[in-house]
This record gives sequence, C-alpha cells and structure tokens, in this order.
Amino acid sequence: MSTGAHPGTRTPTGSDPVLILGGGLIGLALAHELARHGRAATVLSRRRSEAAGFVAAGMLAPHAEGLEGPLLALGQASLARIPAWVARIESDSGLACGLRICGIVVPFASAAERDAYPTAAHGEPLDRAGLEREVPAIGPLWQAGLLFPQDGQIDNRRRLMRALERACVHRGVRFEEGCEVLGLVTEAEGAGHRRKPIAPPGGEQLAAVRLRRADGQELTLPCREAVLCGGAWSARLVPGLPVFPVKGQMLSLQGPIGALSRVVFGPGTYLVPREDGLLVVGATSEPEAGFGEGLTPAGQRQLQVGIDALLPAAAAWPPMERWWGFRPCTPDQAPLLGEGPIGGLWLATGHHRNGVLLAAISAELVAGALLGQQGGDGLLEAFHWSRFGQGQTMKLSPSASC
Ligand SMILES: Cc1cc2nc3c(=O)[nH]c(=O)nc-3n(C[C@H](O)[C@H](O)[C@H](O)COP(=O)(O)OP(=O)(O)OC[C@H]3O[C@@H](n4cnc5c(N)ncnc54)[C@H](O)[C@@H]3O)c2cc1C
Repeated sequence: MSTGAHPGTRTPTGSDPVLILGGGLIGLALAHELARHGRAATVLSRRRSEAAGFVAAGMLAPHAEGLEGPLLALGQASLARIPAWVARIESDSGLACGLRICGIVVPFASAAERDAYPTAAHGEPLDRAGLEREVPAIGPLWQAGLLFPQDGQIDNRRRLMRALERACVHRGVRFEEGCEVLGLVTEAEGAGHRRKPIAPPGGEQLAAVRLRRADGQELTLPCREAVLCGGAWSARLVPGLPVFPVKGQMLSLQGPIGALSRVVFGPGTYLVPREDGLLVVGATSEPEAGFGEGLTPAGQRQLQVGIDALLPAAAAWPPMERWWGFRPCTPDQAPLLGEGPIGGLWLATGHHRNGVLLAAISAELVAGALLGQQGGDGLLEAFHWSRFGQGQTMKLSPSASC
C-alpha cells in the first residue's frame, strides 16, 4: 500500500485495496466478504475494543424486536443467511462463533398486549402455562407471551468478533490497528476547493483519506474507494450524516448450565443465556448520554430491576462483568447502506440495536454493490442515506428519535 502521496498523484486501479474505515463488526464482515470475492481490503481501526461488536448481546431477533416494514424484511433476509455466513467464518478461522437458534420468548402482562405486538403473526402465542414451560421460574408479572423459535443468538463478544478477525486475516485482509481516520479528501479539495458537509450524490469524488497512525505519524493516503464503517462515530467523518450514539449498559451473571434455554426479551431488559450458563443481561438505551463513558448506578439498577421482574431466581446468581458501548443510531433506527454522498465512498453504518443480526446481509449487499454485482433483491434501496432528505439532514438531532 503506498502512503504519503498527495491526492491525485496516482491513479489507483480496480485492484487497489478498498479502505474499510472502522474495524468493528460491520467493517470486519464487509472486509471478509470483499476478500472472499478476491477484492483486497485494508481495515483502518482506531480502537478495536471500543467497537459495539464487543458490547452487544448478540441477539438475532428481527421478530422478537418487533421490527416492521423494510427493516423487518432486511432482518429476516439476514437471519436466513446467518447459518451459511457463520459456517464460512468458522471454516476460514477455525473458530466456533457460538451460533444458537434457540428461540426467543417475549413476555407480556396481558394477552391483549401480546396480540397487538407488531410481529405477533410470526410467533407462537403463549398463555401463562406456556410461558412457564418455555421459561421456568419466570416472574409472576407475565401472563402471556410470544415464542419466536426462528430467532436466536450468537456469542459476538467472546467468539464471533475474534473469529471474524481471524477469517479476515486468513483471506488476506490487511489491518492497521490504532489508526484513526481524520478526514476524507475529495478531488476538488486536493485541487484546493472546500468540500460541502454533505455534497450532492455524484458531485464529488473521493481521492484520499487523512489518517494518524498508532505511532503518531499523520499522512494522506490516496484511495478511490472506501466504506464508512465507523459505527456511532460515523458522522465525525461525514458531518451531517444522521448517525448518533445511543449508549447501552450491560452486565452478566453466571447461571447454572441449562437453567434457561430461550432468550427472554422483556420490556427494557433482556436475558441471553449462553451455552455455558453465562447470562448476558441488557441493556439501557441512553441517547442523552452522548459519548459519555462508563457505568452509572441508575443504569445498572435498571438492569437489576429488569432481572428481578423477569427471572427473580437469577438475582442470586454471581455477577461476572459489567460493560457499556454505543449503538450507531439513525432517525428511523435503520442502517445507511450503499452509495454515500461522495463518489467512491460507500456506507455501511447506522445499524443501531440490530447490527449483529444485520451484519451478514449488510456485508453481502454492500460488497455486491461495490463489486458491481447484480442482485440484492431490491433490499438496498430502502436504506440509502438520502431517504432523510439532503436539506433536513443537517437539522436532525439525536433527541428527535430513539
Ligand atoms: C448495549 C448494546 C447491545 C446490543 N445488542 C445487540 C443485539 O443483541 N443484537 C444485535 O443485532 N445488535 C446489538 N447491538 C448493536 C450492534 O452491536 C451494533 O449495531 C454493531 O456492532 C455496529 O457495528 P459497527 O461496525 O457499525 O460499529 P462498531 O462495532 O461500534 O465499530 C465501529 C468501529 O469503528 C472505529 N472507528 C470509528 N471512527 C473511526 C475513525 N475515525 N478511524 C478509525 N476507526 C474508527 C471504532 O474504533 C470502532 O471499532 C447492541 C449494541 C449495544 C451497544
């Protein structure tokens, strides 16, 4: 990879690596997909440990989350692809990802609430006896439920992320860890003109990225194609892009192996039992926290209250870990996928609370578009960034949604 040249001094060819800006879950999934199709990719990653991919609960839950419209269709398409996607990652990495299509139970206080749930038609209705059968020792508050046997989970935090990294390396993906992308440079800027925050599509062409390496060296790296996979931080590279952080706090408990076989998705709190009995508990949703780091007593208490309501017995299980991270949210809580506002810049960001679920389809669709392949079943169109309107984009604020 050549570095340090002024933008425009080199004409890259189709064999130049695609730069993946951000090495979280989506960046890794995309780099792997491109490399599998013979396209070189270089991942520029500021800090692997801050990625939401290491934070998430790993639920694969288009139905339990009550998704609707194009987002439900995208989630269902991804869910269908996940077994084969995981098999490819496991084969390339030699590591298991901890995929379990274990079913998810959504409990309700009444049958009327259950029947009004957006995805009720996709689930099996449960009465109190059914709930007790699926979730032994469930709290007394819950009188009805929906079982979505097709939904599941993957052990993203301990397994999937590491397996993806190794699968990428196996396929020849290059990594620069500790490398912060500072800005994007267009051809016009290379020639001395200022870039508008959000330029009209087709108006400008990406020419380079400015970056700072782990050793402090700053340089301008020519590139014609890059994919913005910066998660919650994406708008820092494309000001005005409607992506903002929604902080989430989590904790885990060690339960007896097999105590819980289904994921339990309650209002405000969910319980995700791993195969070894670890119970992952999430999550707060704090758009007002911005990028404020750390645990808070209120956030951790909220999770404890949720545990007490869903599975009172779990209050006695030993605590293991507590952590937090930032979901990349958009005003309609759906991702930004496909061509970006600058020629040569692609978007794969804004996956909010469903990035683990959507990684497989996002990688397939964006890699396919970048490689000029037909297909995608028209799934990409609904997730183009311009759906928010160019003029409005600059006015959107985090508090307007989520
Ligand atoms: C508490 C919580 C629970 C969740 N639970 C679930 C769940 O159960 N199921 C589900 O499907 N999804 C879940 N999610 C959502 C999921 O984790 C995210 O949607 C997904 O990880 C987003 O992936 P990403 O690659 O876009 O962002 P990230 O994984 O956050 O990665 C972004 C990366 O970009 C890097 N970066 C940013 N800016 C720069 C820059 N300028 N230069 C270089 N690198 C940069 C960062 O260092 C980071 O590593 C959850 C998220 C949270 C926070």
